[in-house]
Amino acid sequence: MKILVTGASGQLGSTFKSIAAQEQAKDLDFVFKSSKELDITDFAAVHEELTGSDYAYCINCAAFTNVDKAEAENELAYRINVTGARNLAVNCNESSTVLIHISTDFVFDGFLNTPYLEEDIARPIGFYGDTKYKGERAIINNLEEHFIIRTSWLYSEFGHNFMKTMLKLGAERDELSVVYDQVGTPTYALDLAHVVLHIIKAHSIDYGVYHYSNEGVASWYDFAKEIFQQYNIDINLKPIRSEEYPTPAERPKFSVLDKSKIKNTFGLQIPYWKDSLSVALKAYSKINI
Ligand code: NDP
Repeated sequence: MKILVTGASGQLGSTFKSIAAQEQAKDLDFVFKSSKELDITDFAAVHEELTGSDYAYCINCAAFTNVDKAEAENELAYRINVTGARNLAVNCNESSTVLIHISTDFVFDGFLNTPYLEEDIARPIGFYGDTKYKGERAIINNLEEHFIIRTSWLYSEFGHNFMKTMLKLGAERDELSVVYDQVGTPTYALDLAHVVLHIIKAHSIDYGVYHYSNEGVASWYDFAKEIFQQYNIDINLKPIRSEEYPTPAERPKFSVLDKSKIKNTFGLQIPYWKDSLSVALKAYSKINI
């Protein structure tokens, strides 16, 4: 079974590369395309790639993911997250390819105080979330055979993410302030990748929007604290409010996702975030000896 992975040199794309050679993926023929090899904003290039090959699935890991930069670079963020998503959907439709697309908890405004369900109203408060939501709509309007998986606070041993930033800062500083009034769930990219493989191997036709994160709830402060504790880094960590750490983009205060739908549909057991963090830190240590 042939599978196209777009945005292959990013964090999630690299995670798929790391598992492509493993036993569980041995029947799957992955084709990895970085942004240079396949620009998803280029309709003709996407058309040629998808219609010229026999892909059963396309996993879209390509996105404009810098939440703060998206506020200034509106046009580019829109082109990648909306036009790019539409290009994939239209051409997947033509080539009978199932599209597995990754979206975000930032489609929500964060005013709820119970975990967000798939059908809760999306009301993004930043440009990144807005483009990701419009990208979802572009897929839904152009392709029936889609899985849109909204995830949150993705981290891993690959690419740029909060875990790696904390480890770097932990090695450089004695003291650090991290916000405690934004609450969500850290998600290990490897756990998400395994879920995507599970859906593919099940040949599921339960298309639609799903929420997936690790289990549990944390603030960014809790997440940082746990990283330092598990990695034995001695640092004076201070909890601060978002107002004390102003950023160009506003973030939702609460973005915990309800995962009942994906658990029930696919019979999944989801790891608790602290357990997955310890797996990720071990993987990080191996790479960075
Ligand atoms: P990364 O930023 O690590 O990777 C995104 C990749 O997309 C990069 O390799 C980038 O390439 C590539 N890309 C950018 N523009 C294009 C283009 N026009 N054509 C093809 N590829 C392009 O993101 P993650 O792996 O962390 O994120 C994966 C998905 O998960 C995204 O959809 C994101 O929105 C979603 N998500 C991420 C979260 C997070 O915390 N990171 C949280 C929730 C959801 P290059 O580097 O060359 O520009």
